[in-house]
Amino acid sequence: MTDDKATAVGGNRIERVYERIDPEEFDALLFFDMRNIRYLTGFTGSDGVLLLRPDRGALLVDGRYITQAAEQSPHCEVVRYADKVSGIAAALTEWEARRVGFEASALTVELYERIRERVGTARLTSLDGRLSCLRGRKDAEEISSIRRAIDIATETLTALLPFLNAGWSEREIALELDCRMRALGSEENSFPTIVASGPNAALPHARPGNRVLAAGDPVIIDFGAVYRGYRSDETCSLVVGRPDGEYLKAYAVVKEAHDRAIAAVRAGVSGREIDGVARRHIEERGYGPYFTHGTGHGVGLDVHEDPRLSPLSDQILAPGMVVTVEPGIYLPGRWGIRIEDMVLVGEDGCEVLTRIPKELRIIGS
Ligand code: ZN
Ligand code: ZN
Repeated sequence: MTDDKATAVGGNRIERVYERIDPEEFDALLFFDMRNIRYLTGFTGSDGVLLLRPDRGALLVDGRYITQAAEQSPHCEVVRYADKVSGIAAALTEWEARRVGFEASALTVELYERIRERVGTARLTSLDGRLSCLRGRKDAEEISSIRRAIDIATETLTALLPFLNAGWSEREIALELDCRMRALGSEENSFPTIVASGPNAALPHARPGNRVLAAGDPVIIDFGAVYRGYRSDETCSLVVGRPDGEYLKAYAVVKEAHDRAIAAVRAGVSGREIDGVARRHIEERGYGPYFTHGTGHGVGLDVHEDPRLSPLSDQILAPGMVVTVEPGIYLPGRWGIRIEDMVLVGEDGCEVLTRIPKELRIIGS
């Protein structure tokens, strides 16, 4: 950790690994999750393996990535393999690594079995659970990339909203958002854009289809941009023309749940507690059974990452974490409402990063 040979991007990132894992316990760690590898080394390729110990890092890649890995990860040794399993076995032998920790959750059973056969007597131990929130706390550069992704998304939807009305199909709206985000510099979609109207909006992860917006339709738009690998994630719920009374009532409930949860976000609070704030409000108003997902999640190199804000989450918020707050109510066969913002956790509260207003918005019919 003091030797910056392995501190490919910044020493503190490697230190975060060894805050969670006793360096004495393993001779080497094997990373397979490309987002963790990017985080720890700067390498943005789509395939490779990172072998790590506190004073040394090696990126094992195939021939396609030799030049890129050497450029992006100057502090790592770059090792070319013809076959991934043989490459791993050879590197472990070279490092004399017999006690090896590995990211089991990023590996298929098939690849695991093949590696195990090849490494002889080396002992492979899963690191699952121990790398929780590794990328949770963002540094200034990460936060500025997230802000830029949000800027692109904000500009995109804000410019499109005045044109949306009855007659657009879900697919057309999604396509328009995707094209405009790309034109403004988004590297890819943060995740497949969701545009769900009428009863389709009752499905939290509906895919945009050919349904055409009609007067009175509630619409959910959930979308995000990517800048330098960092993602945005935001949901707006809109109505074409005049909404029904029940929708208006439920919208106010979701908005209040969202506002209360955001007001509760600060360092030291658990994901479960934040979820509880939103969930209790929705339950008290009688919509408990219709809030069918967690209240939020971390966002960074991945659109869904630690920490989680859900009834099952023991993860504790810390300054620099970026999380979504996104309560919803979904009435099957009728409509759905979700209001989602991204916030930056601080010592005594949070900063709302997303900027599109979340008051109920009526669009032309
Ligand atoms: Zn979302
Ligand atoms: Zn989300």
